[in-house]
Amino acid sequence: MVLRDRLFPPEPVCLSCQEKIIFSTLSNICDNCLKEMSFVTRRCLRCGSQLPETQITGFCQICRSQELKLESIRAPLIYRGKAREVLLELKYHKNSGLALPLGQLMVDYWKFFSNDISRDYLVVPVPLSRERLTVRGFNQARLLGEVVAREAGLVIEDILIRKRNTPPLYHLNNQQRNLVLRGAFRVQADRAGRVTGRKILLIDDIVTTGSTLNEAATILLAAGACQVSALTAAAAERV
Ligand SMILES: [Zn+2]
Ligand SMILES: [Zn+2]
Repeated sequence: MVLRDRLFPPEPVCLSCQEKIIFSTLSNICDNCLKEMSFVTRRCLRCGSQLPETQITGFCQICRSQELKLESIRAPLIYRGKAREVLLELKYHKNSGLALPLGQLMVDYWKFFSNDISRDYLVVPVPLSRERLTVRGFNQARLLGEVVAREAGLVIEDILIRKRNTPPLYHLNNQQRNLVLRGAFRVQADRAGRVTGRKILLIDDIVTTGSTLNEAATILLAAGACQVSALTAAAAERV
């Protein structure tokens, strides 16, 4: 760092709108952009997604027909508008600084809905397949997981391997989803012992049907985890 930058550090800018930040609630994103994001207000009690306007509480249509192995799924944001824009920017343009405000929101939301953020939790990001990781160069779920772990004082470990990527699952029925997902994950051979008796906090960027998280949870429970919950930045809106 040159002396000039040390004496007069450049003013921070919002990584979404590029406006200068004077004060902001979260790091790297201004309060105007934060205000533009939609938060989950009527959440499905299982998958945490936004319920349709006609439904105030209960389970969403997808959760009514699928058995969830996860303890819960929580997501602060609705995947639309500004939140969608920010997540796409993180995922496809490697604007990795955006993982910080998103991770901060995730931890705040988790603390709000769960009294339990004990050290027993092991943070596990949902992995990408090796092929996709090579193309993209990074895993956005890993970046979010690192922030969550740091902010909550937890340990993060890459426990899972994704043997192959799966196509979008939203339009498939339960049976088709299970078929597509079967065998998509496995536990890293040398990490199996790390899961035994642990509570796991699975991290991903978006939850759409919950099936991918559910499949990952099934594998972790089979490996000896005592409980698996999931935390994502955003959740799809149920219609
Ligand atoms: Zn902004
Ligand atoms: Zn649901």
